[in-house]
Amino acid sequence: MNHTILLNKRPVGKPLLSDFKFVSEEKPEIQAGEILLKASYVSVDPYLRGRMNSAKSYIAPFELQQAISSGLIAQVVESNHTGFSQGEYVSGMLEWKEYQKSNGQGLYKVDANKAPLSAYLGVLGITGLTAFLGLSEIGKPKKGETIVVSGAAGAVGSVAGQIAKIKGCRVVGIAGTEEKCALLTSEFGFDAAINYRTTGNMRKAIAAACPDGVDVYFDNVGGDISDAVLMNINPFARIAVCGAISVYNETSQPKGISVQPFLIKNRVLMQGFIVSDYAAKFPKALIQLSQWLTEGLLTYTETIVEGFDQIPQAFIDLFEGKNKGKMVVKI
Ligand code: NAP
Repeated sequence: MNHTILLNKRPVGKPLLSDFKFVSEEKPEIQAGEILLKASYVSVDPYLRGRMNSAKSYIAPFELQQAISSGLIAQVVESNHTGFSQGEYVSGMLEWKEYQKSNGQGLYKVDANKAPLSAYLGVLGITGLTAFLGLSEIGKPKKGETIVVSGAAGAVGSVAGQIAKIKGCRVVGIAGTEEKCALLTSEFGFDAAINYRTTGNMRKAIAAACPDGVDVYFDNVGGDISDAVLMNINPFARIAVCGAISVYNETSQPKGISVQPFLIKNRVLMQGFIVSDYAAKFPKALIQLSQWLTEGLLTYTETIVEGFDQIPQAFIDLFEGKNKGKMVVKI
């Protein structure tokens, strides 16, 4: 039988295991022009939380009682398609199923000999691209500038901070544990790290870590942390609004500081972005990310959870900060 994970209920607040449902169905049979895929690695991502709501957004909501989908690495186990051979690995937006069939549309081949397969969901996948393009298109860090990255020990944040180091910036990361903060400064070369869970006054802590103020803010979390960064923002700073995980589970409209006076008096550019808007730039960005990895200028970490049945819990754990680097589930 083939195991599948459906959206059982729309979460209210923090997602619960009961919001998901496991079902068994027949393994699909492929027709001409189709391939049978077996899931190898599943990406769990904070943005999936938004797709579990019914509200209109940049991407359609998941339907109740239908399979959830996210980035997957899968192996071609049968092929009736001239473009794909048995044994090859592909990456694409696929369903949370052990086996599924595809006509190959939207799939990209990945090479297990060039990088570990899981890396194609992280540093060489959407999260690496998000870090790269959020910086190159909006943050535009310049040598000698100070950049703050929130969610800094996560998949996007850890890569964003390292790219800013490559660009010659002073890089300050914000993360939720001492272990993560130590990882930022030891492994990823950040200049300083702030533990937002134990720091009483974030505005002062950011001021101390950024004596020349903040020129670029790569925002992965929103909420109070971002308010504190804004209070330290420099004239002509750029804020790449990548994510707002601190408010994804809010059930009412969150209240924060009024951003306009900070933006106006400092002539700050604050821009939200969705990485897929820059799809045309993915190939070039991937070449650069791969090169930095080869040169040892960029490194990455992953939290790999094992087992198809662990996918919902791994997703929920993102909101508890249980991951360091990219959270993936190995099937
Ligand atoms: P991630 O950072 O690897 O994992 C999520 C992390 O968020 C957790 O490890 C946790 O770290 C932190 N977190 C959880 N709850 C928090 C809270 N209440 N306040 C502050 N931090 C909290 O996830 P990711 O995939 O790299 O994504 C990071 C952000 O980028 C997310 O907001 C995501 O939605 C966004 N994103 C945007 C795009 C785009 O196209 N715009 C693409 C990909 C991702 P701590 O232990 O440090 O709290």
